[in-house]
Amino acid sequence: DITVGILALQGAFLEHKLHLQKAIGHASPGSSLDTTNFEIIEVRTPEQLASADALVIPGGESTAISLIAERTGLLEPLRQFVRVDRKPVWGTCAGLILLSDEASKAKKGGQELIGGLHVRCQRNHFGRQAESFECNLPLPFEGEEDHPFKAVFIRAPIVEKILTSADATADVTEGVVRAPKMDRELFDRTEIEVISSLPQTQGKEAGDIVAVRQGNIFGTSFHPELTPDVRLHAWWLRECVLGRSER
Ligand code: GLN
Repeated sequence: DITVGILALQGAFLEHKLHLQKAIGHASPGSSLDTTNFEIIEVRTPEQLASADALVIPGGESTAISLIAERTGLLEPLRQFVRVDRKPVWGTCAGLILLSDEASKAKKGGQELIGGLHVRCQRNHFGRQAESFECNLPLPFEGEEDHPFKAVFIRAPIVEKILTSADATADVTEGVVRAPKMDRELFDRTEIEVISSLPQTQGKEAGDIVAVRQGNIFGTSFHPELTPDVRLHAWWLRECVLGRSER
């Protein structure tokens, strides 16, 4: 049995829960998703986190999520879960920001990162809420060309830089916040894979990195839980959650 937690402090956690349930319910008979017994739980306490084998961190407001996590005693257990225990984790939008080792600072400050992904994230890269947009995104599914994935970007971050071990020891750049170092964590444990970059769309510059994977951590700039398509949820369960736990 595999318990998948969804960090349910703020943001679009219910939508993720429904998508995961739908992805499991629609799995083809006999496939790994069909034959595995999944339990999907909402995570609000360190005890609930401890019972999870994998975790989704939803979009929402990363400053709010990190403040609530700190107040509820979840911030350190989250760092442990992601960076030391290295269980499968997927962050979308605000979740991607929280999982980055560095991010541009929130205007009012107070932002604490979980860290783990050796990248610098730029918050609100495309501007304000009114600048939200949708576009077809290349993703690693079969049949993707015939039926592209529609990605929804809402005040979305991008991965602006892949960090080297030299970056990790250099002084923090002005206007950037860095996740604290942790004992028992090595830098450069696994290469970063760029899973998707923005195509030429709606006058935006092509090439911005919007989906990355590094070992157990997967991060996306967009909100896959806000479209009816559950293929990315199925992909994550299959490739990241089962792929890892089967090893
Ligand atoms: N801009 C938000 C932040 O910085 C993220 C937006 C989102 O999750 N849709 O936290």
